[in-house]
Amino acid sequence: MPQARFEPQVRATPDLIQHASHLSIEASSKPPQSQVQAYLDDLGYEEDEAIEPFRSELPTGYCYDVRMRYHCELDTPKDRRDYHPEDPRRIFAIYKMLCEAGLVDDSVLTKSALVSRPLLQIQVDYATEAEIELVHDKRHWDLMTGTKGFAKEELIDMGMSLDSVYFCGSTFENARLSAGAAIEVARAVASGLVKNAIAIVRPPGHHAEANRPMGFCIFDNVSIATKVCQADYPERCRKVLIVDWDVHHGNGIQQAFESDPNVLYISLHVHEGGNFYPSGNYGDHKHVGLGDGGMGDADYLYAFQQVVMPIAQEFDPDLVMIAAGFDAAEGDQLGGCFVTPACYAHMTHMLKSLADGKIIVCLEGGYNLRSIARSALAVTRTLNGEPPPRLEARPPSPGCVETLTLVKSEMGKHWRSLFEYTKGANVWELQPREDWSETHYG
Ligand SMILES: [Zn+2]
Repeated sequence: MPQARFEPQVRATPDLIQHASHLSIEASSKPPQSQVQAYLDDLGYEEDEAIEPFRSELPTGYCYDVRMRYHCELDTPKDRRDYHPEDPRRIFAIYKMLCEAGLVDDSVLTKSALVSRPLLQIQVDYATEAEIELVHDKRHWDLMTGTKGFAKEELIDMGMSLDSVYFCGSTFENARLSAGAAIEVARAVASGLVKNAIAIVRPPGHHAEANRPMGFCIFDNVSIATKVCQADYPERCRKVLIVDWDVHHGNGIQQAFESDPNVLYISLHVHEGGNFYPSGNYGDHKHVGLGDGGMGDADYLYAFQQVVMPIAQEFDPDLVMIAAGFDAAEGDQLGGCFVTPACYAHMTHMLKSLADGKIIVCLEGGYNLRSIARSALAVTRTLNGEPPPRLEARPPSPGCVETLTLVKSEMGKHWRSLFEYTKGANVWELQPREDWSETHYG
């Protein structure tokens, strides 16, 4: 063993004691190589042991394309003061905020200094018919293709005949671009080009069902991107977790993966006993709780700590998709909840602990331009490596605790991490969740 002695260079007086730098470490002699090897052997150290490369060295990716602002509402009577909530400016508000924060290098909008590792732009491409039809049926594709040749009145009439959607001459191409952007960003993360990424896209997608657009959504971007990754990277994307924190239930995503055990869909949404959009019982899975509105940071964090993360860790995904609506954000009139940007950062941070940090954030809803921009910035800073801001500890609301007690009791029947909350459950009778297949299409 090498001998070392510790000798103060100067006598420690009271005012010098705090300066530890005044102490030097002096080795008596350089130990022979054999002694070093013996020391390493004692530690069980093998020289050729592989050290994982740092994923944090990879950039965070983003996509934004001005063409995704072309989809807009045609029916805007002159006397109407309000814009449609799914406003083309939504994605610009987010992009502008990322530029102003120095995360994106834009010659016009970036005014402050760029961060040392800015975001990498992922080029956007149109989703193909084959990609769209991984989720939607041919009839849906044909119906949307047909809108390209419609006259203005026909486009307005078609929107009126459906559930909460509008159309213009650019809708079809814009929706293909939105799905295509989600695909390219997901591919960039799955292939290891970037460590994680955010897709700033519109129209949103999580309400669009196999055979119909609805709820401001044309094509289901997150589901399409997930299915493309499963097909392109069957080994790397064997299990995918989709967390949907939009304030509305993502009926489209739930429907797309209902029969796929390799994809776990977790949605946090307001339900109000079936009265909140998209209405009905589909979002009240197993009828657990009323899902009242008005939730805030403490409620979301409690849900994450008590249910989302235990189940997510047990599922152990290869890739995480976030259907990131920001309509539960503080300031969003439509959502009626109070989630702050700091809370979104914490939720992102927790999800980053999964899947080697391979997470894709894909914009869904969120209608207050300032709220969505601030929330998306907090999420993107966290993706890029910034620690989430400090949050004051507050107790969750009684309505949240009541709902989550019911959720845990129900989920405990399926997940070992929550079994203790299920009355009469016996953990020894619970089989580990291994019903997902070895390869996706296997
Ligand atoms: Zn929403």
